[in-house]
Amino acid sequence: MVKRGSGKKLTLWQQSAEFRQIGREAITKWNKVDRPKQPKCTAMAKSSGEKCRQLAMPNGKCRYHGGATGSGSAWHVPQWPDRSSVDAEAKLHGKLKALDKAAKRRATRLAKMTPEERKQHELWQRTHKPGPATARQRAKRERRENAAFAASLAQSPPPPTNEAKRLLDEIESLEALLEQRASKREETIFD
Ligand SMILES: [Zn+2]
Repeated sequence: MVKRGSGKKLTLWQQSAEFRQIGREAITKWNKVDRPKQPKCTAMAKSSGEKCRQLAMPNGKCRYHGGATGSGSAWHVPQWPDRSSVDAEAKLHGKLKALDKAAKRRATRLAKMTPEERKQHELWQRTHKPGPATARQRAKRERRENAAFAASLAQSPPPPTNEAKRLLDEIESLEALLEQRASKREETIFD
């Protein structure tokens, strides 16, 4: 069984059927009565094409659709709590702990990857550097231009070099000469 909770031993009262019943009723009431009254995320979910049903944060969006990841120069850059906040220190500790946890989770995930997955991951990391969008957009534009250039090279034959052009001209004039001679020969035969 999955271990849940704080690991503290439950009191006899907490283990009682009555306590569990109270808990069950409370969560059912929350889900049926209170949750529907809470403001919902206003984004459309890509997965279903319908309106997202997550609870909204103060900015009107859920944490998946709005603001959990910073935008612009804050994109994927850790955001530190406001110093003037009364619980700034606690928030900072929480943030550091979360970052540490994420780093460990990332390390585990990386260790389990196949070489192919690892390559994909590294490519994504290279093309999705944190910070301002301008550098990413420039790199993206360059990648697109390079790909277009490579595609155009693959499609049309390269323009003839001077040497090739000279040879083509020579072939053409020799062919003309050959034709001239052939027609002269015909003339002599039928004369
Ligand atoms: Zn949402």
